[in-house]
Amino acid sequence: MIIGSHVSFNKEQLLGSAKEAISYGANTFMFYTGAPQNTIRSELNSDLTNKALTLMKENGIDIKNVICHAPYIVNLANNIEPEKYEFAKRFLRSEIDRCIKLGIKYIVLHPGSATKLERSIAIDNIINALNDIIKDDDSCMVILETMAGKGTEIGVNIEEIETIIKGVNSNNIGVCLDTCHLNDSGIDLNNFDTYLNIFDKHIGLDKIKCVHLNDSKNEVASHKDRHENIGFGTIGFNLLMKVAYHEKLKDVPKILETPYVGDYAPYKLEIEMIRNNKFNPNLKDELINN
Ligand code: FE
Ligand code: FE
Ligand code: ZN
Repeated sequence: MIIGSHVSFNKEQLLGSAKEAISYGANTFMFYTGAPQNTIRSELNSDLTNKALTLMKENGIDIKNVICHAPYIVNLANNIEPEKYEFAKRFLRSEIDRCIKLGIKYIVLHPGSATKLERSIAIDNIINALNDIIKDDDSCMVILETMAGKGTEIGVNIEEIETIIKGVNSNNIGVCLDTCHLNDSGIDLNNFDTYLNIFDKHIGLDKIKCVHLNDSKNEVASHKDRHENIGFGTIGFNLLMKVAYHEKLKDVPKILETPYVGDYAPYKLEIEMIRNNKFNPNLKDELINN
């Protein structure tokens, strides 16, 4: 299984991210190229990138499975303020260029939030923006994340994702499934096979390039988007393992975005638990007490 977690991207850039992932026993990871809440980005240091690539190779992390996440503040759905819309487009383009420099193949994007706009207009804004941004021959693909439906989020069902993908002229676009978001948007993961069948008919399973593996603090269709540690939420361990071990998703990287337990990163223990396919009900206690 290709599994890792989100990690930080700090002074040591990709090298620091790789070190953190390795400390969790992961064979992939996801990072932001700077703070997810802002657009301040440091200059990439090619020496650190090269060191990261060497370290990753030595530790069985294939760069083609490593994922970048675009900052939350990029909202391509809203063009009410044209300067902000243009800035969001330029910024996403520069993030793609950073990924290309690092050798990263996929960047996850939240499609956007409609805010005061009609949803169909918001979706058109996203499509137009992506048509300006995405190039066929980019070595890094934008992948749209399935969203929980908090506030006015776009991308809350197969239909909206399909409309965006079909509206984009390039084929260089994919999808990232987030299990917490699917649950919160109204998909009961007991019916995950049905979901995949419908997804395949409308979009194609080959478009799924990443899975965010998270439990949820809330019930199906709650539209909340609050992640929980694996097996400690409303989805539960067994259903999450059905997704993690699904034959049709076996080559797709799985990324944990579960919360810290107190001050402690849970990823090493969660990855162990997932690889063993056995729930550890003491995971939170072990983290706090050790
Ligand atoms: Fe996300
Ligand atoms: Fe996610
Ligand atoms: Zn989320």
